[in-house]
This record gives sequence, structure tokens and C-alpha cells, in this order.
Amino acid sequence: MEVNAFAAKKAGEDLEKFNYNLPVIGKEHVDIKVHYCGLCHSDLSMVNNDWGNSKFPLVPGHEIVGEVVALGDEVKGLKKGDKVGLGWFSESCMHCDQCMDGKQHLCSDSEGTIVGRHGGFADHVRGHWSWVTKLPDGIDMSKAGPLFCGGITVFNPIVLSGVQPTDKVGVIGIGGLGHMALKFLKAWGCEVTAFTSNKDKTEALKKMGAHNVVDSTDSKELESIAGSLDFILNTTNVKLDWVAFLTTLAPQGKLHTVGAVLEPMEIPAFSMISGEKSVGGSPLGSIALTRKMLDFCVRHDIYPAVEEFKMEDVNKAIKHLHDGKARFRVVLKA
Ligand SMILES: [Zn+2]
Ligand SMILES: [Zn+2]
Repeated sequence: MEVNAFAAKKAGEDLEKFNYNLPVIGKEHVDIKVHYCGLCHSDLSMVNNDWGNSKFPLVPGHEIVGEVVALGDEVKGLKKGDKVGLGWFSESCMHCDQCMDGKQHLCSDSEGTIVGRHGGFADHVRGHWSWVTKLPDGIDMSKAGPLFCGGITVFNPIVLSGVQPTDKVGVIGIGGLGHMALKFLKAWGCEVTAFTSNKDKTEALKKMGAHNVVDSTDSKELESIAGSLDFILNTTNVKLDWVAFLTTLAPQGKLHTVGAVLEPMEIPAFSMISGEKSVGGSPLGSIALTRKMLDFCVRHDIYPAVEEFKMEDVNKAIKHLHDGKARFRVVLKA
């Protein structure tokens, strides 16, 4: 099948129209007609080859929702016409300990949707049936794409860290990931504190689910909530005063990062020891948890705030995100 896509021909370049041929479909593979695809910071990182693993031409796009149009003989649980989503991963080995334990996102032999293969800025994309996730009835497809990367990335730590409805929690950085975390944690039942460096956003953050808004750059404000939070989720990728945030944790509290801070996080041992506190991180989430998250979103009417661009305006959309103007997640309509 010929696919009409948008690709970067070289690192850092604008995307251009690009056609390629998908080989005859494999027994376990599914072809999806793309309806919408979210634009994620990782797409920009891959286009710029920031992580050194990009292959060009590169078709970005890993927050895909669409419809099954073709499938191999051994595909399980899907049929033509099903509405589905596909995220960062398109395949995993399905036999290692992690895969057999339902943690396919931790498989060391997994395949990234835009790593060495072509992603969802296209009219069609292919994935293994296990990662092609059926959408629940009643979901809003125009806003569901970002749930498959940003959404599951912030949903997984809530489950992984055993966050309780009675917990007081904090979210650092209210952008594409952080605003989804606020909505999830509010619906989870928690008392939610948004940490932001821009207090002008206070009203908007409260509308999204924050009970409290704290200026993350003001040490007095941080001190005023010392020892109060059970869980803090960091969604930023910048160096912060980690000790100050650890001080806001209650005993046995957890600081969890999904923001890929490139500089080492300096954590003095005593800031963890005295209150049995811990620091951790995680990538994305499992297939089963992704399904549960989608049900949770439909039940509580939780969606990212999206700005829609046409797929052919992809370069405009990339510039919008790159300039820090996205409020809060950009979605391309095929
Ligand atoms: Zn992503
Ligand atoms: Zn595996």
C-alpha cells in the first residue's frame, strides 16, 4: 500500500510530503487509517536527532487515533472498522519476562513507532495488534490522540506509586503532560497542588483541577507547605531545586519524574533518609493500563486541552509547539 506522509529528509529540517510503500501486511499486523495524530515534544527530539537514534527520512507522529482498514490472519481482538489508537510503541517481543508480566513498555526488544520506521503524520500507519488499542465507545477521537503518549506517561505513575484518593499530591510544570496529570489526580480524588513559575495561570489551573497553586520559584511558598504532600509528579525537563521539593513531601512521600531532565538530579541522601522518602521515574505505561486509562477518561470526561491543525499545516504546528505557544497539546487532523 502506498502511504502519503510528511517526513523530515534530514535532521532539523521542515517536514515535506513523502510517499512510501508498506510491504504486504504481516500475519500479526494491523493497518490504521489515521484520523488524528498528536504532536509531542518527542517528535521534535526525533526530527532534530537529539537522541542520536533517528533515521531519515523520518515520519514523526506517535499519538495516533484512527480506524482499522487491514489486518493479518493472526491478529487478535480487532476487526476492520474498529476505532483504535497507537502510541510510542508499535511492537514488543511478547516473550521476555517484562512482556510475559504485562509490562511490555519495559521490553528491551520493543519497537518505537517512529524509531527506524514511519509514524502517524500520514494517511496510514502500521502496528502490531498487541499495541493497537481499541478505543472505548463514546470517546472523543479528536482529543484522544495525546492520551497514547502524554496521557499514559502521567497516568502510569499514579498507579505505580499507589496514590490514594485521600492523598495530597503536587504536579510540577503545567504544560502538555502536567495539565493532563492535574485532571487525572483531581478525578482520582486527591487534593492537588499545581507548581508553576507563572502565577498568572492560577485561574486556568484551578479550572483544570488544581485546589492550590504554588509558585515553584518562591522558596517561602514552598516552605509554607513543608511536609504536606504524599506524591509529587515532575513533568518538566529543567533543573529545579529538588531538595526544596523533597522538603514539601510528607514522610514516606515520593517524588516521581516523567520529565527527562538532562542534567543529573542532585539529591542529598539525608533529604530522603530522614522521612523515608523516595525518588523515581517511569516511561509511558503498559497496554492493559492504557486500556484502563481510556475507560477512566470516558467515565470522568477527561481529555487534554487541544489545539487542532490540519495535517498539511504540520510545519506551522511544529513551530507553534517549538515557540512554547501550545495550550496545551497540538493535534493534527488527517
Ligand atoms: Zn510522545
Ligand atoms: Zn519483550
